[in-house]
Amino acid sequence: MLLPDYLIDPWQLATQGSVLQGRLPLTNMTRLQSALSAHAEWATLEWHFSMISGQPVIRGTVAAEITVQCQRCLQNMTIQAVGETWLCAVHEHFNEEKIPEGFEPVIIEHQHIALSQLVEDELILLLPFAPMHEVCPENPYHIETVEERVEEKVEKPNPFAVLAQLKK
Ligand SMILES: [Zn+2]
Repeated sequence: MLLPDYLIDPWQLATQGSVLQGRLPLTNMTRLQSALSAHAEWATLEWHFSMISGQPVIRGTVAAEITVQCQRCLQNMTIQAVGETWLCAVHEHFNEEKIPEGFEPVIIEHQHIALSQLVEDELILLLPFAPMHEVCPENPYHIETVEERVEEKVEKPNPFAVLAQLKK
């Protein structure tokens, strides 16, 4: 199912015991997209809203196929970012002690938040800090390493030595 990006009221959804399940387009998530090396299309979402000791919580999973740059070979790599969501919606001046154990408070101003904003924040937390291929593919734009440059120097004949040979 395709989820529309709309303003959600976590208190209302939690009271109703709603479930948001489906695909959400990542088109407008500019903060996320700017951290990626190729445009990402979709997030797959399964979020369960419920009340735990009077607090609206969101539990579930969020996943997206994203492309980032390998920090070793600098080529793109596509990975599945998958994370668990443990959020508790709170108003600006909230009481830390009321947050159910294991949940992260997320401040919702004016009672509503765009679904895409919540999902984007969750996806940004899933971005790998220093992504690397397990085995890097052959790089067509291979950059010479220092060792290779040294080897090359050793193999090339010294031009002065060649000149000396000619003089003989
Ligand atoms: Zn690599």
